[in-house]
Formats: sequence, structure tokens, C-alpha cells
Amino acid sequence: MRRIIITIDGHSSTGKSTVAKQLAAELGYIYIDSGAMYRSVTLYAKENELLKGNSLDKEALLKALPEVQIEFQWAHGVNKTILNGQDVSEQIRRMEISESVSQIATLPEVRAKMVDIQRSFGVKGGVVMDGRDIGSVVFPAAELKIFMTASPAVRAQRRHSELLASGQDVSYEAVLENLQSRDEMDSKRSVSPLIIPEGAIVIDNSEMNPHDQFNMILQLAKDRIFGRI
Ligand code: C5P
Repeated sequence: MRRIIITIDGHSSTGKSTVAKQLAAELGYIYIDSGAMYRSVTLYAKENELLKGNSLDKEALLKALPEVQIEFQWAHGVNKTILNGQDVSEQIRRMEISESVSQIATLPEVRAKMVDIQRSFGVKGGVVMDGRDIGSVVFPAAELKIFMTASPAVRAQRRHSELLASGQDVSYEAVLENLQSRDEMDSKRSVSPLIIPEGAIVIDNSEMNPHDQFNMILQLAKDRIFGRI
């Protein structure tokens, strides 16, 4: 059976990773969370005091970049992000990382390294990858490209509930502010900005239930896998 590449790009907190994970599980594909990679570099910069507040020692970070090793582990349906041998899956979701990640993601040298790693996962096909530039830059020839969006208020509400559930005490307003500033930085940066990739199917899921959305994307994938498109 044909093993295709599926890219899911879009705005922050549109549920890309949830649907990408479900799709990968259903199809027996690997799932790669490219945002986790940019988050890991951000965590590395913070832990090594190369990034303090908004102040980044760019030269030092670029020099240290070869030492940043990012891997993924899949076990019992759980995806783990490993940074230099340590499981950082939870730490990289913290608000202080979300606040700095888009700044780190503007650096072309960081992006070049991440894109190389991301492409290496796609060599044999059978991959679902989510992010901001996956359909436009990483896999422009992907068989199925999705672009997900939703209204900022809906997205902030969903993200806020997730953060509260994980024990982080942040306000709805702070979450909304963070989403909007990341969207703006991601869309306006000069290298690999967030765009609707050529050939992508746009889904606004503000009013859509997750089950219907999943079935719709699964059908799109099957049409391509079985050669109906
Ligand atoms: O997907 P997630 O929200 O975890 O991504 C965090 C940040 O990483 C994004 O806001 C964006 O700045 C950056 N990113 C990117 N390119 C990707 C994935 C994420 O620039 N392919």
C-alpha cells in the first residue's frame, strides 16, 4: 500500500497535533510534532542562559547548535520529545517556552537544522507532520496538505482549558495574547513564514466537532493512499 506524507500546518492551538496523532495511529504512520523541536531549542537556550527574557545571545546559540540533539520516542501511544537524552515533553509546553519560541523560530540557522531532521523522517513516507512550514518548505510535494485555522477566541479558550488541566495557572487573556503574537511573528517572519501552502486544503474548525474533522481528513488521506486522487 502507498505510504504517503501528510502535512498539517496552521495557526497556533487549532488542534493540529491532536488530529495528526489520531491520523498517524489510524494509518500506522509516524507522527512528528515539528513545533516540539523549536520548543526544545528554546528550552535549551533558556536552560543554558543564552536566552534571558527577550534577550538572546544569538552567536552563542548558533555555536551551541551542534550540541542540541532532538529525538522522539513513541511508546504505548505516547509521544515523547527527548532533548540531549532527557524527556522534556512537559517542560516544552510551559507558558514561558510558548512566549519565546517564535523568536527562536525566526533564526534561519535553527530552521535549517530542524528542516534537515524533519526531512530525514520523511524518506520512506508514512509520516504525518504538523507545524507552520511543513507543506510549504519541508515537504512541498506531500500527497496531502492541510491548513487548519479557527477564530482566536475559540483557540484561546481551548488552549486555556488545556493549561488549567495541566496545572498551569494562567489567565485566558494571557493565552489569547500569546496566540495572537505567535501568529503574527510566525506569519511575518522572512524565513519560511506561516502561509497556506500551495495545494493545501483549508479547514476552519471553529464550529466543527473533532470527530467530523478527523473523519473528513481520514477520508482525504484514504483517497490519496488508494489512488482515487
Ligand atoms: O506547534 P507549536 O505551537 O508547538 O509551535 C510552537 C512554535 O514553533 C510556533 O509558534 C512557531 O513559532 C514555531 N514553529 C515553526 N515552524 C514549525 C513548527 C513550529 O516556526 N514547523
